[in-house]
Amino acid sequence: MLEQELELDLEPIESWMPGGRRGPGGRLGPVVMAGPCSAESEAQVVATARALTEIPLVHVFRAGIWKPRTRPSSFEGVGKKALDWLATAKSETGLATAVEVAHPRHVEACLKKGVDILWLGARTVVSPFAVQELAEALRGTNTPILVKNPLAPELSLWIGALERLNQAGLKRLVAVHRGFANYSEKRFRYSPEWSIPNQLRAKAPNLAIFCDPSHIAGKRTLISDLAKQALRFRAEGLMLEAHITPSSALSDVHQQLTPAELYELLDNLSLLKCAQPANSHKKSTQNNDRIQEQRLIL
Ligand code: PEP
Ligand code: MN
Repeated sequence: MLEQELELDLEPIESWMPGGRRGPGGRLGPVVMAGPCSAESEAQVVATARALTEIPLVHVFRAGIWKPRTRPSSFEGVGKKALDWLATAKSETGLATAVEVAHPRHVEACLKKGVDILWLGARTVVSPFAVQELAEALRGTNTPILVKNPLAPELSLWIGALERLNQAGLKRLVAVHRGFANYSEKRFRYSPEWSIPNQLRAKAPNLAIFCDPSHIAGKRTLISDLAKQALRFRAEGLMLEAHITPSSALSDVHQQLTPAELYELLDNLSLLKCAQPANSHKKSTQNNDRIQEQRLIL
């Protein structure tokens, strides 16, 4: 059987993604989006976003508000009240904001409160019905959407989600590689299976692919090496979890970095040299003091 071609009608990422810029040879970025796994309180959201503005490459602040948890006893997110916290973080720092949506009412709430970028999570992308409902809710908006790979290592499900969104008129799409469920994987929380994003790239060379080393790794110590692998893969962006006090995080406690650790990680990858800050005039001296303190305790 002939393999089905993938034709996506996309707007080039550098025309709409904050921080997306072409360097020598036409290579993008990479764009860095960072923030906590979950928004937990206004203080945590604002303090994390402020500290992240000290990292010039971070242009987008991510935070989960509705958390799709495997077991119902886990922390399921604070819900839509966090949208006001994100709006405050955005106006204080100039960072664009990104939130996971899994239901049309999440889409409606986010668009009403000015969230810049939405993402579909790995547990949503496995369900064509859920993706189609989200595509209908987004029709006519051209909202930037990141599509994480489905938990299952099936390229066609990932492609199907991208197609459903694209057919609903969404042209600002990015795929996010966050690793795949695999019972034999021992080292990482999710198996990287680089062959899958490689195949996606071959099928849709005009589609930007980000990598989320935090969710692949599952633990802090493995993130840096995976980020290196992502750069070797030539990912156009990185999504990384960062929390002002990771040890007290209510979700994904083992894989979140302090903003200072994230700074070190990106610096060690030589990514900070010519990065342009998101919005330097909004930084406060208070932030500088805070990040200096964090560097001292690293
Ligand atoms: C997240 O980004 O916090 C998240 C839940 O992601 P994923 O859907 O990749 O598990
Ligand atoms: Mn997480």
